[in-house]
Amino acid sequence: MAAQVLNGTMVAALIKERVAARVSELAARGIKPGLAAVLVGDNPASKVYVGSKVKTCEALGLYSEEHVLPGDTTTEQLLALVEELNQRDTIDGILVQLPLPPQIETRRILEAVTPAKDVDGFHAINVGRLVRGEEGLFPCTPAGVMEMLDHYQIPLAGAHAVVVGRSDIVGKPMAMMLLHRHATVTICHSRTRDLPAMAREADILIAAIGRTAMITGDYVREGAVVVDVGMNSATTEAEIRQIFPESEWPKRLETLRKKGSTLVGDVEPRTVIEKAAWLTPVPGGVGPLTIAMLMQNTLRAAEMRRA
Ligand code: NDP
Repeated sequence: MAAQVLNGTMVAALIKERVAARVSELAARGIKPGLAAVLVGDNPASKVYVGSKVKTCEALGLYSEEHVLPGDTTTEQLLALVEELNQRDTIDGILVQLPLPPQIETRRILEAVTPAKDVDGFHAINVGRLVRGEEGLFPCTPAGVMEMLDHYQIPLAGAHAVVVGRSDIVGKPMAMMLLHRHATVTICHSRTRDLPAMAREADILIAAIGRTAMITGDYVREGAVVVDVGMNSATTEAEIRQIFPESEWPKRLETLRKKGSTLVGDVEPRTVIEKAAWLTPVPGGVGPLTIAMLMQNTLRAAEMRRA
């Protein structure tokens, strides 16, 4: 039987509704949570991400502002902006869009954001709080995955979760969140021996790799829950026919003709839907949840700062 869809767009809409309702309660008390998004340079993908974050803020009633700095900005100049935003009372969340240009010391910038406004959850203090199971602000993408697993009531306690990827942004915090919910967690990466065999042990398989359709049916145990965090692109008709089930070909080929590429995850749906019980689509899976969780983190930051 084909896998059921874990619908990230729908879960994200529920999260955003919840946030908007709370934001309007706060508005009655004269409080408007505010997000500052900082973009350095003109990376087209980063521009799109920041644009949609700002637009979502507006839609939910949050205050937002966008700071666009030239590509040759120095670390010191960026630190000065971060410091100004740290001080400003109308700003509850600060987001510095990654990647930053090579001349900027990314780690120094991320550590400069005050932990109370660190809505991406990248500051060492928030990383430590996550590891210790304390209250804090945590990375949006894995937090969104947890919301989705909970929405679909996927059992976590005692389940074997295999996370493929160990980045600070997705893989490591994902593993930690699953661990706190009593899953037995295995973290895999590029040096893992016999990854397909390891992945086949998973009740819950999280792919956060950044390799187009790498996770095929051969990596998936019958009945597993598969979450595809990857965001890659397919640019040829042959790839589309290889990666997607036939039912998706017309729509995907149309997108390819119009845009020159189509969004693909780290999972190959054509073979995985035959094995998995649940699978996230790409697009419409983890992506929308990431933005929804950023809104939720900004709201939480505002509530925690004013508590
Ligand atoms: P990184 O490149 O930082 O990390 C990728 C991880 O995958 C690394 O730990 C790497 O291992 C591992 N890896 C790479 N190749 C292999 C392989 N052949 N076999 C096993 N493991 C491998 O990526 P991110 O974590 O930032 O992102 C992962 C994916 O998720 C990307 O496609 C990204 O675009 C997407 N993403 C999507 C978001 C969303 O909102 N949907 C948000 C953030 C990311 P090693 O450590 O050994 O190098």
